[in-house]
Order: sequence, then C-alpha cells, then structure tokens
Amino acid sequence: MSPLNSSSYSGLSCSCCADMLSPTHSRRDFLRNAAGVGLAAFLAPQLSFAASGDYEALVLSCIDPRFQRLVFERETKSLRTDKYSAFTVAGASIGVVAPAFKAWHETFWENLAASVQLHNIKQVIVVNHRDCGAAKIAYGEAAVATPAAETETHKNALLTFKAELSKRQPKLGSQLGLMSLDGKVEQFS
Ligand SMILES: [Zn+2]
Repeated sequence: MSPLNSSSYSGLSCSCCADMLSPTHSRRDFLRNAAGVGLAAFLAPQLSFAASGDYEALVLSCIDPRFQRLVFERETKSLRTDKYSAFTVAGASIGVVAPAFKAWHETFWENLAASVQLHNIKQVIVVNHRDCGAAKIAYGEAAVATPAAETETHKNALLTFKAELSKRQPKLGSQLGLMSLDGKVEQFS
C-alpha cells in the first residue's frame, strides 16, 4: 500500500494537519502545497511538532492502584491537568534510587531526558506514598515498621533522588512528597 494512500491520513487529528485537509482549503491549494515541497516533507515537521511543546513537569509516582486517582486529582487541583508528563514505577523515587531496583534506574533517567527534550518541562514532582510494598521489598519490613521509620525511609529516598537529579538534570526543580492513604502529602526539601 502506498504511504500516500488517502486512508493513511484519514485518522490525522493534529489541528495543523487537519486544517490543511479540511474542506475549507480547496483541493487545488492542497495539491499545490503538496506538489511544491513533497507531501511527506510537508507533513513530517508538523507531525513531529505535535508531540512536543512547553509543559510544566514530569510526575513520578508509584504503580500502587490505590494512588492513581489520588495523584491525578492532586495534579488537577494544582491546575496541572494536560501540563505534565508521567512516569509510574514501583516505589516512585524508591524505584529510581534503591539498589534493589538498579535495573530500572537508567530507564527512568532516559525517560526524563526525553521529556526534557520533547516537553521542555521545568521540574519533577515526586509522589512517594505510605504503606508502599516497594519500600518493603527495597529496604525490608523494619524500614517501614513505624510511621516514623517509614517517614525516614521515604525522606532518604526522596533526598537521594533530588541529589541525583541535580547531577543528571541540574536545570530542573523538584517537589518531593509523601502521600498518605487519604491523599494528604507531606513535603520534603
Ligand atoms: Zn508503592
């Protein structure tokens, strides 16, 4: 099938291309533009532009099902809906710094670099959470046996994350949080 088959473009939804393909532009205008620069070359920059932009943050959170809605609602209340990229990994910052999860670390940093390049984000918002199974896997039961020990364990992981962030992406700011089961967040800095 030819890549220029009309059905190939029937699902285009980015506003720039959709506008050019709409009935408000005459077929003659469209063909003249397409013939002048080549249809593929004409469309390619606009397709790549659609995936990039100027956004606020990457939100790093845990895979725990109990916290997906809570994290989303928190970002919505902060008026960041549609303004952040997301990376979800067991333990949030624990998944990015704990030796037990070493194989995951570079995947996160490479994804963050991609979000910096594509989305021009300004900060990383980290949401660890209480009663986190990944914290137990990474550091053992004793590390989260009491609320105070749990706080200390997450604080250490969050601050280790911040130190690594300052080396990897020194231009980015950060917000370091520990969310409770009711959605309240304790901040560290
Ligand atoms: Zn968790």
